[in-house]
Amino acid sequence: SPVAIVCVGMAGSGKTTFMQRLVSHLYTHPDPTSSQPSVAKTPSTPPYILNLDPAVHHVPFTPNIDIRDSVNYKEVMKQFNLGPNGGILTSLNLFSTKIDQVIGLLEKRTAPPKPTPAPEQSTVEFMTSKGKAPAAVPQQPQVKHILVDTPGQIEVFVWSASGEILLSSLASTFPTVIAYIIDTPRTTSTSTFMSNMLYACSILYKTKLPMILVFNKTDAQNAGFAKEWMTDFEAFQDALRNEEEGGSFGGEGSAVGGGSGYMGSLLNSMSLVLEEFYKHLSVVGVSAMTGEGIDEFFRGVQEKKEEFERDYMPELERRK
Ligand code: GDP
Ligand code: MG
Repeated sequence: SPVAIVCVGMAGSGKTTFMQRLVSHLYTHPDPTSSQPSVAKTPSTPPYILNLDPAVHHVPFTPNIDIRDSVNYKEVMKQFNLGPNGGILTSLNLFSTKIDQVIGLLEKRTAPPKPTPAPEQSTVEFMTSKGKAPAAVPQQPQVKHILVDTPGQIEVFVWSASGEILLSSLASTFPTVIAYIIDTPRTTSTSTFMSNMLYACSILYKTKLPMILVFNKTDAQNAGFAKEWMTDFEAFQDALRNEEEGGSFGGEGSAVGGGSGYMGSLLNSMSLVLEEFYKHLSVVGVSAMTGEGIDEFFRGVQEKKEEFERDYMPELERRK
């Protein structure tokens, strides 16, 4: 069965570049969890791509469904007299009213191919790429991966009613996994690291979906430190102490001193809480730029998909 991968993360963390990398990996690898590229005649598994960022200028891949085809973000801002965030939110709201059509299209493309393909009825003109009716291509390969790119403003997607509608519609139809993308070079200090982890924790709690932490940009900064901090509490404590000595919180006696002041003891207790949170996550270091770690990411997806089917499906069935 197919799996939906929803990429979320702070603006600039590399969601779109990561999406592009996933797409090209799926086009060239029949088994995405293997680092062996496709040899001739082995079919690849092209994904089905959704762009939900109405404000993006350039998308480096071709989405099958693009929010920009149905909602003009600039026009929405003008008509409703909104700023950028309000514009994105309103665009998402408008789009979410069409979620049934989107799910319908997804179901069609993820269904096993029929032996005798019926002629395609182009009744759904709305959501297709560039407003055109779907071309009646016979026997399109069955889609195994649905990739979703989300707006740069993470809170607009995660904390809005329409974001919730989009996510829950997806998750009630397909096993759905959240990929939380992190800008690794910008999270090397203990305090930004902790803030980022707490944010991830809140998203896990809010969406109630299995999550993979994706430490991106490993070409610029190795993610070893993050993995170590997540598995070895002592190592994190050491880092806290070192930063305190290095004076990065403002020197001795400062209220935000690493181990002693309020910030230090807060971070200390927080990391104990997060230990529990970390146990539920898959963690991978990747470079969207070079492709490093992408096969490992897909192994994480497989793992989380099975977790979804085992732990989340029964809960969803119960709620129906
Ligand atoms: P988004 O806002 O989360 O969609 O982020 P983008 O994909 O637009 O990327 C933001 C910036 O980070 C761009 O300048 C990218 O070139 C850069 N970037 C993304 N992935 C990587 C990576 O793996 N390595 C490096 N060095 N830069 C990256
Ligand atoms: Mg983007």
